[in-house]
Amino acid sequence: MRFSEFQTLIKELYFEKDHTRGIKGTFIWLIEEIGELATLLKEVDLDDKKISEEIADIIAWTCSIANLLNIDIEKALMQKYPNKCSKCNSIPCKCE
Ligand SMILES: [Mg+2]
Ligand SMILES: [Zn+2]
Repeated sequence: MRFSEFQTLIKELYFEKDHTRGIKGTFIWLIEEIGELATLLKEVDLDDKKISEEIADIIAWTCSIANLLNIDIEKALMQKYPNKCSKCNSIPCKCE
């Protein structure tokens, strides 16, 4: 699945709810998911399954915010991370 397909899926699933909730409310949900990831990462024994679920949540809520702002994340990623470091032009990054 391309990232753009996932973003479209999230739009089809949740845009109406996201639009009703608004950008600020949706952003608070994203931060809550980041908090859930932080809580899991504080554990001594890391739960990979739960951590992977929270990472999925974070990406899904990020898509919701981008959908509300009409931002194409795949396009934004390619512009910001064009298959090399956009500052030093290297793989891996050699920036100091
Ligand atoms: Mg969660
Ligand atoms: Zn670099």
